[in-house]
Amino acid sequence: MSSTPSTSSTRRRLVIIGGGFAGLNLAKAIDKKLWDVTIIDRHNYHCFPPLFYQVASSGLEASDICFPFRREIRSRKVKGTNYRMGDVKDIDFERKEVKTQFETIPYDSLVIAAGTTNNFFGIPDLHKHVFTLKSVSQAIRTRNEILDRLERASITKDPAERARLLTFVVVGGGPTGVEIAGAMGELKRYVIPREYPGIDRDEVRVILVEGTDSLLRTMSPRSGADALKALGQLMVEVQLGKSMKTYDQGVVTFSDGSTIATETVVWTAGVTGESFNTEGSDVTPGPGNRWIVDEYNRVTGLSDVYAIGDISLHISEKYPRGCPQLAQVAIQQGNTLGHNLNTGRFDKAFEYRDMGSMATIGRNRAVVDMGKTHFSGWMAWMVWMCVHLMSLLGMRNKAVVLLNWIVSYFTFSAGLRLMLRPSKYPLRSYWEDGQ
Ligand SMILES: Cc1cc2nc3c(=O)[nH]c(=O)nc-3n(C[C@H](O)[C@H](O)[C@H](O)COP(=O)(O)OP(=O)(O)OC[C@H]3O[C@@H](n4cnc5c(N)ncnc54)[C@H](O)[C@@H]3O)c2cc1C
Repeated sequence: MSSTPSTSSTRRRLVIIGGGFAGLNLAKAIDKKLWDVTIIDRHNYHCFPPLFYQVASSGLEASDICFPFRREIRSRKVKGTNYRMGDVKDIDFERKEVKTQFETIPYDSLVIAAGTTNNFFGIPDLHKHVFTLKSVSQAIRTRNEILDRLERASITKDPAERARLLTFVVVGGGPTGVEIAGAMGELKRYVIPREYPGIDRDEVRVILVEGTDSLLRTMSPRSGADALKALGQLMVEVQLGKSMKTYDQGVVTFSDGSTIATETVVWTAGVTGESFNTEGSDVTPGPGNRWIVDEYNRVTGLSDVYAIGDISLHISEKYPRGCPQLAQVAIQQGNTLGHNLNTGRFDKAFEYRDMGSMATIGRNRAVVDMGKTHFSGWMAWMVWMCVHLMSLLGMRNKAVVLLNWIVSYFTFSAGLRLMLRPSKYPLRSYWEDGQ
């Protein structure tokens, strides 16, 4: 079961768990003449989470926002990096090795860049019943289920069943919840009247539920207020100050005792760091299951182990609860750690340069915060599109996404409404469930 990635030289072995924004940018920044770099990822592609909601709402295909590692590692900056498919379950800090379901991989230095997964806050069995957006597979599943409800509602005449099928509840009023609710509002407003003659759009309810008293809490209050208004224009019902308690037998129960009957709950309410079984040290992750690091992204209490991106937690005066879990933080940490590992001097402390944050709520509507500046509407939407297009990997992906957006803009149609369900057999025990 044991194997070693190519170590034909005296280069030190750097193993990176996760080829997301943090891991891939580190691989770009690191000097491959000094380091023998291996990225381990459970998927054979790098993907772009900010656009998962567009896959879930039939606006884009998965292949438009994903990029195979095998191709990426041929590119100039990443060239020389090894890629291994595998789900890392175990890390032995003493023996200096990580284990996937396929092999054991030794390291000299280890970088944990595995990001986060859904947090269901201990609600029993919730993960079995709600749809999520933390991976491209989950986004495809969510898309299939939304389309399934529309097709089944087009068939049934039973009013109670129609109401249940046509009620969509999105839980969590952060950027992901706002974006998917907005996209579903567009489906209701523009697509259903044209393509589902058996459904009256007033029968469709898209409900966004948020536990606090405003949307987009990580952004400015004006962004939250503008998002609320924009969702209203898209016929999305927003219910604030309400937390979901249970979801049982097709009924969601909230903290205030109210209930909603629905077959479709999209859960975007929280994240927690990916977990590993560890040996060889008592050091464990801190709050949010994130590994506590110093300003050089060294994991506190461990030697030759680093954490970057969403799974790391660097507490500073400016960010007492750690940096926000954003793509830019992950990218910048990857770059800084690359520099420090290359020089070996650890002379460059990580400092987050806030490039702003943004969210979109359907066509022509977005909110942008840049420093103290806030703007919304069409201009914000253009900025949102440019930033996301530029950040996508690969010219093909950029071109296809742009073309899709132009076509959808003029046709008011999310044209990729294909229910592509995976065939069940033959089963593969080493495929992780639901990732
Ligand atoms: C739906 C959604 C929308 C978002 N929108 C925005 C946005 O608009 N703007 C923004 O700045 N940020 C956004 N974010 C957050 C942003 O995507 C993250 O901050 C960023 O992806 C963090 O990068 P990372 O490299 O730490 O983790 P990730 O990008 O999550 O990468 C982690 C990688 O590790 C792999 N992995 C995980 N566990 C294992 C394991 N055990 N073994 C092997 N491989 C593993 C995963 O497959 C993945 O490739 C969004 C996130 C989501 C989910």
